[in-house]
Amino acid sequence: MNKTVAFIGLGNMGGGMAANLVKAGFKVNAFDLMETNLKAAADAGCTPVDCAKTAVQGVDFVVSMLPNGAIVESVYIDGDALLDVIPKAALILDCSTVAPANSRRVGAEAEKRGLSFVDAPVSGGVAAAAAGTLAFMVGGTEANFERAKPVLDAMGANVFRAGDVGAGQVAKICNNMLLAIHMTGTAEALQLGMDNGLDPKVLSDIMLKSSGCNWSLEKYNPVPGVMDGVPASNDYQPGFMVDLMLKDLSLAMEASVGSKSSIPMGTAARNLFNLHKNSGGEDKGLKDFSSIQQLYSKP
Ligand code: NAD
Repeated sequence: MNKTVAFIGLGNMGGGMAANLVKAGFKVNAFDLMETNLKAAADAGCTPVDCAKTAVQGVDFVVSMLPNGAIVESVYIDGDALLDVIPKAALILDCSTVAPANSRRVGAEAEKRGLSFVDAPVSGGVAAAAAGTLAFMVGGTEANFERAKPVLDAMGANVFRAGDVGAGQVAKICNNMLLAIHMTGTAEALQLGMDNGLDPKVLSDIMLKSSGCNWSLEKYNPVPGVMDGVPASNDYQPGFMVDLMLKDLSLAMEASVGSKSSIPMGTAARNLFNLHKNSGGEDKGLKDFSSIQQLYSKP
């Protein structure tokens, strides 16, 4: 018999992920607060339901893809209190990006009730969610990781176990802090070259074959017109918004406070993205994060 999944949070990411579970043969009970997202999920073959508690009845897995840690804790513990109604045999996978402390709290409360939980945040944006090519970073026991794998394989191309509950979030935060750092560094280097008379395409080609090569330069060039099909060549339409990068950099700062780690480059990147968000009279938070290039460019 086909396994049943309750999917909570059918937004930009969750919508595509739930559709891929249907394609892989899972029966999906879908819930979101927004009617339009429920309708899209129904069109993709999910069964829309009118509340989260109904969604989890009799399921084998619960997958959530929600905006932030406060909402995740509310859905599982303090508000909808799903942990009180999820079947004991089910496995819970929270794929939202939240603080490791949020995941550890939900994981501990789940364990108290005899339930199994993993955090499984993702790398890859809306296109990867729709294409089923996300990378998952999982925090949980080895046994729960093995149970989670068939569900995650249906939505992603790469699935890693980072460690125990919360470790998936730590991996996600480290990855995105590094992404912010190499994107700002790439924008800075390209601007220095342009200001000194170089064509950004020529400079990019040189650095791609030199020691400055990195993912931002290779896949996501921040200068308009250098690369086709990236946000920079489409008026910085996201993609991955400045506001979401700021959320992840704030989570990195929180984690560094707890562990007393020095993150001077991550802190500088967060300040640069904040400065960019508030620069030029309009809120840049909704633009793609590669628009950090505009902070460096001369009028
Ligand atoms: P989104 O805002 O598009 O989707 C979130 C959905 O959750 C919305 O449809 C909203 O209605 C729903 N929701 C909110 N509260 C709810 C509740 N109590 N019950 C049920 N549904 C509820 O956000 P998104 O872009 O899909 O991001 C989701 C998560 O994925 C975030 O944690 C984000 O940081 C992470 N993420 C996003 C991207 C990206 O590129 N968008 C990439 C990687 C990770």
